[in-house]
Amino acid sequence: PRQTLYRGRFAPSPSGPLHFGSLIAAVGSYLDARAHNGQWLVRIEDIDPPREVAGADSEILRALEAFGLYWDESVRYQSSHLNEFQAVIDTLLAEQRAYFCNCPRKRIKAIGGLYDGHCRDRLLDGEHCAVRYRNDVSIRGFNDLRLGWQDAAEAQDFVIKRRDGLMAYQLAVVLDDIDQQLNHIVRGVDLLDTTVSQLALYSEFNQSPPSYLHLPLALDGNGNKLSKQNHAPAVNWQQPQVELWQALQCLNLNPPTELKHQPVAQQLEWSTNNWQRHKLGQSNHIKSVC
Ligand code: GLU
Ligand code: ZN
Repeated sequence: PRQTLYRGRFAPSPSGPLHFGSLIAAVGSYLDARAHNGQWLVRIEDIDPPREVAGADSEILRALEAFGLYWDESVRYQSSHLNEFQAVIDTLLAEQRAYFCNCPRKRIKAIGGLYDGHCRDRLLDGEHCAVRYRNDVSIRGFNDLRLGWQDAAEAQDFVIKRRDGLMAYQLAVVLDDIDQQLNHIVRGVDLLDTTVSQLALYSEFNQSPPSYLHLPLALDGNGNKLSKQNHAPAVNWQQPQVELWQALQCLNLNPPTELKHQPVAQQLEWSTNNWQRHKLGQSNHIKSVC
């Protein structure tokens, strides 16, 4: 039987420049795709304007190019599909697969953080409401290609459109991943817990789910996750060789020292040939000063 072509992606939110933590997700998803003769796409997840920084999208793309991480097809901007997302939400609402909810965050917190379905049958009209997915799908867990079997936490009716009118990540990411026919999701382990909700949506839409590989996260010298919220510094893409080599080291590829000053194209070629998932190990944290 003909094998389906591997299609993977890197899907940054443009809330700041590429930092070392997101470089690891970019390089890891790129190498896993290329090592499997796959395609690698880039999608800018720009559906949360309050958290976005003007120009961050083009800065991220220029950084990817400086690291030799060339993508296939054209870059997709999530914001250009808001109408399609809304149409799906309207259908789910009409079919009572989703419902409006105006529960204050405080109440959900007070009951322990797991939403209890309070608004399921209240038939609210949508005024100052979030939209929740009526999650009757029971996903027991999934197999992560690095971590192995992951038991699902207790399911809940999660938000697919926020009360402030913005699209929620969960629905947007699944609809785009389906639409772009992506079948391998390689991303940071900080998103591990979102996977089960996403699998419920694949089931809702009768789509076969992608496979998942969650990469370890880079920590700074103080043991904090490198993230935009923690003001991780932008990668230095004027000197991409050294930073790329460090990312390869963080991914446990054990790159030879002499590779450090070779052009990024050579480094990526070496790493594609030497990529093996099991080398990533089981730890979820890596010290970024490897
Ligand atoms: N846009 C998300 C982020 O930057 C990643 C989405 C994903 O890889 O599923 O955290
Ligand atoms: Zn509610």
